[in-house]
Amino acid sequence: MTQANIGVVGLAVMGSNLARNLASREGNTVAIYNRSVERTNLLMSEHPEAGFIASETIDEFVASLAKPRTAIIMVQAGKGTDAVISQLAERFEPGDIIVDGGNALFTDTIRREKDVSAKGINFVGAGISGGEEGALKGPSIMPGGSAEAYKTLGPILASIAAIAEGEPCVTHIGTDGAGHFIKMIHNGIEYADMQLIAEAYDILRQAGGYSPAEVAAIFEEWNKGDLESFLIEITAEVLKQVDAKTGKPLVDVILDQAGSKGTGVWTVQTALNLGTPVSGIAEAVFARSLSSQASQRAAVDGLPADATTWNITDRAAFVEDVRRALYASKLVAYSQGFDAIRAGAKEYNWQIDLGAVSKIWRGGCIIRAQFLNRIADAYKTNANLESLIFDPYFKQAVANSVASWRTVVANASLSGVPVPAFASSLSYYDGLRSPRLPAALVQGQRDFFGAHTYKRIDLEGTFHTLWSGDRTEVEQAPSTH
Ligand code: NAP
Repeated sequence: MTQANIGVVGLAVMGSNLARNLASREGNTVAIYNRSVERTNLLMSEHPEAGFIASETIDEFVASLAKPRTAIIMVQAGKGTDAVISQLAERFEPGDIIVDGGNALFTDTIRREKDVSAKGINFVGAGISGGEEGALKGPSIMPGGSAEAYKTLGPILASIAAIAEGEPCVTHIGTDGAGHFIKMIHNGIEYADMQLIAEAYDILRQAGGYSPAEVAAIFEEWNKGDLESFLIEITAEVLKQVDAKTGKPLVDVILDQAGSKGTGVWTVQTALNLGTPVSGIAEAVFARSLSSQASQRAAVDGLPADATTWNITDRAAFVEDVRRALYASKLVAYSQGFDAIRAGAKEYNWQIDLGAVSKIWRGGCIIRAQFLNRIADAYKTNANLESLIFDPYFKQAVANSVASWRTVVANASLSGVPVPAFASSLSYYDGLRSPRLPAALVQGQRDFFGAHTYKRIDLEGTFHTLWSGDRTEVEQAPSTH
């Protein structure tokens, strides 16, 4: 009996497309299995050309795989994934490989890797980005797990990944949960990028008076320059769309409440735990939350705006200011995302090549963009870059944009256009570059009410002030370091 070199468990939209992608590559024979046989039968009948080996039971599926067995799980994240892992782990042998290609939380992947690898079976958590089209035509793939497993798995994943400038968009990210961690950060950055584009649109629309079709034309123009990206491209397409029912721009009849599936929230929660500011991503997540506060928004009853009209004298300069503000804010979002990766790598002991991460995001995934080549160059020049913003190219780019950034944030605020991600990104930038921060005052407050102590700029040691009336005494507290 012919055996398959790779199997896929879970044949909903992602799994069936990934299985078809695998089958289309020379040298692959693909085994398929789904809990309910209807999906398997549908895929077999719709795609006889794929030559799948289909199984109705998990035992048959495992028997259809050549050793070392390799199976990619594409089922509902959470309990579904745990159920399938345990079914496979009961039947697989040491040296076999279980790949979870779903959107797992990286800490779950760390736990699962520990459990499965205790049996000698390799477990690889692989982030797969690009939605259903990516799964079929070539996703960006972010595998974690052991280097040993990657030796077998790497060539298979490289054969199905997107290709960007001749290179497959896959690299071994690091051990255990590193792959899913990177996928999570990718999604967080995606949230920020989308929100920033939405804010640029809102400014152009509300303050500039441009119609959706006109904003689409502006975005198409922007897509020829520094901002060239999949997200700018599809935004122009969305804005051009006319609703067949009403004849209005479709964007005007879509309910303005943004949904989410949770990976943005995970990114922010993780960054909070790591103590790494990802304010652009957080604002994007909160902006979606605010949009979805349906009852609160419906209850708004004439809250005063007291806004002024943005006095736009030169329309080309106004549009260019918005473009530069978008570029600078986007740089902050990516810079914060990469900071979170560095912090995660340190915390979880992963050796992550940041340049390689930016390269595998150039194709197949939602944030694919020219910009990522610049990020790869920055880390190639200096692998230990403290912040992307410090790279000479980006530093110059910010220098070219910062006046426009301030103009846009200040005028948006005066005219009452909400720009949470633009504004917080600019504040982050100002915070980063400030030689003195009011954190000194916060330390004083903490010492006042909680005797939390503080450090001085001129003396070693830890200090506490006896805050009483008009008399303050400074004493050196027992050293805590
Ligand atoms: P999904 O709707 O998330 O999950 C449906 C699949 O999971 C079905 O095959 C279902 O089998 C199976 N399943 C659920 N519980 C199970 C259990 N207890 N035991 C066995 N199988 C179980 O499918 P999807 O949208 O194709 O996504 C698959 C994975 O990829 C998810 O982790 C998702 O987060 C991730 N992902 C999705 C996208 C996307 O654009 N959709 C993009 C990137 C990543 P039955 O048919 O028997 O119910």
